Amino acid sequence: MPDKTCSFSLDHYREILQTAKESGYEFLLFDELLSTAEQCCLLRHDIDYTPEKATEFGKIEADLGIRSTYFFQIVAWTYNIRERASYQAIRELSDMGHQIALHFDVTWRGASQWEELPNLCTKERELLSHLTGLDIPDIVSFHNPGTYANKVIDKEVAGIHHTYEPRYFSAYKYLSDSQGWYEGCVCKLFESGKYPRIQLLTHPYIWWDDPHSDFIENMSALINMRRDQLTEYMIEHHPVCTKNQDQLRSFVKSDLK
Ligand SMILES: [Zn+2]
Ligand SMILES: [Zn+2]
Repeated sequence: MPDKTCSFSLDHYREILQTAKESGYEFLLFDELLSTAEQCCLLRHDIDYTPEKATEFGKIEADLGIRSTYFFQIVAWTYNIRERASYQAIRELSDMGHQIALHFDVTWRGASQWEELPNLCTKERELLSHLTGLDIPDIVSFHNPGTYANKVIDKEVAGIHHTYEPRYFSAYKYLSDSQGWYEGCVCKLFESGKYPRIQLLTHPYIWWDDPHSDFIENMSALINMRRDQLTEYMIEHHPVCTKNQDQLRSFVKSDLK
């Protein structure tokens, strides 16, 4: 393989997966743990902001013959899975052979009793199934698991199968891109084979065709992208915005210092 430049680019995402495959890692879904593979990776994506970017990941994986699990919220402030682009993204991922699962967050109803969670989780999985028209597997990933860290991380939870339970967590090396890599780029870890069993969590919104080197700059690019999309949406759908679109665009820009 030619020299790789580590970054949060989609090209490098492909290289990471290629490196894993060339180093002998087998990719598993969460219900495939019986595999006898010596080196394996549970590949998981939590979708917090940009469902449409998830399909870019899904295509790269499908090209390489890899299946993974995409966890979607049904209560996200930032997207709506029945909005056309999000809904299509989910259906496309499923058509590519990936699994769609629940990214579980019950903060929409204020404080919940811990004992209520299994029942709420079942209902949310049913709702996700209804909204997407897909079978939703019996595995969830907790959004912001730190909220329940002492009850969830490396713990079994009665009535809920989840990605942080011991057989997926302490039995594996857990790696996440959520705040940048904390043990160097994961391509190096696949290359060295240092950890034979890896649960790899990625968030597609972090990855770009042409990313900035700075994490905060990438976050601001995401926010600006959504601002521009909302501006165009208002111009298309609201008659006053349509009529005054030049003025609107200049106000939107001038509000940003
Ligand atoms: Zn790398
Ligand atoms: Zn999340």
